[in-house]
Amino acid sequence: MLTLSNLINGEPRAPRGGRYLEVTDPATGQAYAQCPDSSAEDVADAVDAAAHALLRWSTTPADARARCLSRLADLIEARIDEFAAAESRDSGKPLALARSLDIPRAIANLRFFAAAATQFAGEAHAMEHGAINYTLRLPLGVVGCISPWNLPLYLFTWKIAPALAAGNAVVAKPSEVTPHTAWLLGTLVQEAGFPDGIFNIVHGSGPAVGEAIVVHDAVKAISFTGSTRTGIAIASAAAPRLKKVSLELGGKNPAIVFDDVELNDKTMATIVRSGFANQGEICLCGSRLLVQRGIYERFRAAYLERVRALRVGDPLEASSDLGALVSKPHFDKVMDCIARARAEGGTVLVGGEQVHVDGRCADGWFVAPTVIEGLPVDSATNQDEIFGPVVTLIPFDTEDEALAIANGTPYGLAASLWTHDISRAHRMAAKLDFGIVWINCWMLRDLRTPFGGSKQSGVGREGGFDAMRFFTEARNVCIDHGL
Ligand code: NDP
Repeated sequence: MLTLSNLINGEPRAPRGGRYLEVTDPATGQAYAQCPDSSAEDVADAVDAAAHALLRWSTTPADARARCLSRLADLIEARIDEFAAAESRDSGKPLALARSLDIPRAIANLRFFAAAATQFAGEAHAMEHGAINYTLRLPLGVVGCISPWNLPLYLFTWKIAPALAAGNAVVAKPSEVTPHTAWLLGTLVQEAGFPDGIFNIVHGSGPAVGEAIVVHDAVKAISFTGSTRTGIAIASAAAPRLKKVSLELGGKNPAIVFDDVELNDKTMATIVRSGFANQGEICLCGSRLLVQRGIYERFRAAYLERVRALRVGDPLEASSDLGALVSKPHFDKVMDCIARARAEGGTVLVGGEQVHVDGRCADGWFVAPTVIEGLPVDSATNQDEIFGPVVTLIPFDTEDEALAIANGTPYGLAASLWTHDISRAHRMAAKLDFGIVWINCWMLRDLRTPFGGSKQSGVGREGGFDAMRFFTEARNVCIDHGL
């Protein structure tokens, strides 16, 4: 069985307590690795190493920091098949998706923030009467990065890359459920040229390791992506310590289809993908599908036909559109949500059951893509994040009604809008209370743009220079040269 290690002060280290957690392949239900079940002591070692290394890194020229990030990207790219296989095995997602989306986007994150390191700059503000202000953007120091299991390496690099680019030292914790690719990345850190101690990875559970990072006095900021529940716990622990936090949390995203839209192949394929990509385990997935009454019947027929055609199966098979859900507890949660939807009076139009896959995946945790109709907009199914392959269909009549339904949950991460009416598109975009609005597309990402949610979907924005600003402290210097 593969044994993963922490990365502390540039070297692989076993957890001090000698305890390990099982890492399971959700497609087979079999444990295949063990990852450190680290403790606050291991976190303290990592923070010490980071604090010692900090000065050297924060005074390293930006182009040298950029070269380390770029080399790391190159090293991953050279082993992309190994990384993709590890990601698929750890999370249950189709290998083809890991190969085409997760790992390439992780590489893109590293390259993007390598460039950002050299492009990021302070500002100057000249005053009328002979004075000038200039603003320095200084690294914060030691920062914590905590990431979830759904897009493991993609979201891990999304945090560590800007933190390192801005000159900070990092203590990072990937999800214990999917630690494999972060560990693999850790094996390349030295070869990429990072000084020892600048980039530390501590594996373990959220309550033990995540919390220890959050409460450690020397950790100045926390960048977290995960559930709203954990985000609230982190905010509560960070606030009295006056730490900076960036919280990317859950979503209950609407996809809104107006009756003027042409239901062509590209549109239908994208709408289906927006519900079921990565088994629906993407915070950006559109799990509430609002369809204008005039095309409701026609849309539903075309949509269901496509959903029925999705193939659930062995993640290693190129023919599988959906793989396994990430873990048994998550599988149970999703199945409970489907049962709850039935109890709330919903009609399951397609799916609604476990899928049994033959052969090596006979014990895996697969769920059929599920579409449910007939639920009130304030039902728990339409309000709570499920984070699985479950989409509800909701008819609406008017633009105002669509807006009220879309905005009518505690979340505000991403909305997608399907219409050819440009005025309506702008009107809706201005009124949708979401951090991200996609018009006639979904998950089209430009890394320069601000990324994050409103309401219970988060606090702050990551991406582009927003991430660089988060990971730096502004110091304004005012010079009166009129004397
Ligand atoms: P969790 O909140 O359970 O965990 C996220 C990370 O936080 C994990 O590394 C976890 O560790 C850690 N953690 C758990 N408890 C604590 C704690 N008390 N203190 C510090 N860290 C802790 O989320 P999931 O991993 O289940 O991820 C799914 C969630 O992430 C969904 O709600 C989804 O919407 C959200 N998400 C949001 C995104 C966004 O950009 N807005 C993007 C992707 C996902 P461990 O797993 O080891 O226990």
